[in-house]
Parts: sequence; C-alpha cells; structure tokens
Amino acid sequence: MKILLANDDGIFAPGLHALATALADCGDVKVIAPEREQSAAGHAVTLHKPLRLTRVALPGLDVEAHASNGTPADCVALGTIDPNNLPDVVFAGINSGANLGEEVLYSGTASAAMEGAMYDIPSFAVSVVAPDSPPRFDVAARVAVWLLENFPVDAASRPCFYNVNVPNVAPEEIEGIDVTRLGHRRYINRMQERTDPRGRTYYWFSGSPLEKDATAGTDIAAVNANRVSISPLHFDLTSHADVPVLGDALNGQNLEL
Ligand code: MN
Repeated sequence: MKILLANDDGIFAPGLHALATALADCGDVKVIAPEREQSAAGHAVTLHKPLRLTRVALPGLDVEAHASNGTPADCVALGTIDPNNLPDVVFAGINSGANLGEEVLYSGTASAAMEGAMYDIPSFAVSVVAPDSPPRFDVAARVAVWLLENFPVDAASRPCFYNVNVPNVAPEEIEGIDVTRLGHRRYINRMQERTDPRGRTYYWFSGSPLEKDATAGTDIAAVNANRVSISPLHFDLTSHADVPVLGDALNGQNLEL
C-alpha cells in the first residue's frame, strides 16, 4: 500500500513524525510536508513562485521524506503528480490541535486531505484535540492505523475526505468512535488590536472558541465525550436545501437591469 503523508505543522513536527512512524508498518510511506509551519493556510496553492522539494531525513525513520516550499495542498498535489503512480491513501497530520466545526475551512491539515479527495484518493485529516496539555500523538497515530485497517473505503461515497479528531487522553480512556457532522465553533474576540513599541496599531488573529453547536451528533460533542470523531466531508459547499427555496423566489425573474 502506498501512503502519502502531508501536514500543515511542517516537516519536522512531532505529530507528523508519530504518524509516519506508525504508518511505516502498514505500507510504503512517502512524506511531503511544508518546510515550515503553515497552520491555517486553508486550501491555498502556490501560483507565483517555483515549487521545490528538498529530500530530508526524518530522525530514526527509514521513509522517503521531502520538505516543500509550498502549502499543505501543494504538498498533496506534488505527491500525486504521476497519474500512473498515485498513492492508495492520503493522511494529513497529526495536527497539533483540534480541527472542529468550521475550523476545517481554515485548516491546512483538512485541505491537504481535501486535495487528495479531489483526485479520488481516500484521504484522512487527523488532529489531536489538546487545548490544555501536551498532545498525545501516539494515541492519535494508533487511531490512524486502526482506520487504515478498518475503514470501509468501498462503502463510502467519494470524493469525500474524512476529518478525524482524537481526544487527548490515554488509549484506555477513549470511549469509542462516532461518525459525526460538523458542529459550529465560532470564535469570539478573534481580532485583537494592540499597539507596537513605536505606537502604531497592529492586529493579531486570536480569540477563544465559543461552542455554538456542540449538540449530539457533532464532532465537538464526540470529542467532549472522549470519543474519536470522524466526519465525512466533501468540498461541495452548496446549501442544497436552499437551492429550491431560493430558486422559487428568483428563477425566471426578469432582472430589469
Ligand atoms: Mn497545524
């Protein structure tokens, strides 16, 4: 099995190293990851500079690894250049920190998996939800291996990717796995205004999550209950319920501009 591994925390991030170590026992792992952290890069791709790959050695690991000067999505695109030699599966992560609710829209981890899904490759984004303590990457890596061995790839409709969030607890404290929908996790006070030493105003994107929808069935509810959350996601952002409703109101209208 050919496994492509990417992330948004950078090529030397411990979460990537833990996932590469675990997946190396399951198949041929090829790592392509950003040369520096690109958390919250979203699905950006690089159009205005040359992309380069630099072969790197991951300490203690015998896997092919490359650092890229591109984004997380670029890394997966670079790993799927050859249509005759595509990976069987893409993993992104393990991200240091949650990717819950609409955080997936900012997440480079989620977008790396989405890039794989856009080319019809089963793709997983894996994050560990560790707001207050050092992330247990070893546990999330075991979840990734479990998914690789147990996920019903043929039962799932594609193109989809699978957004996985793992609670930051010991393995024996994980209560199970829930297939979930995205909750709603709006941030409050997210743009902080400060003053620099020269008296000029600057802004820092920050804030704290306000869990607006953490009801049963959401990814947030699952991890709050110490359960692994896996949300099947697609890149069709259409609000399907609104198409006929708005269509009744707007279709066929004379614009009279
Ligand atoms: Mn990250």
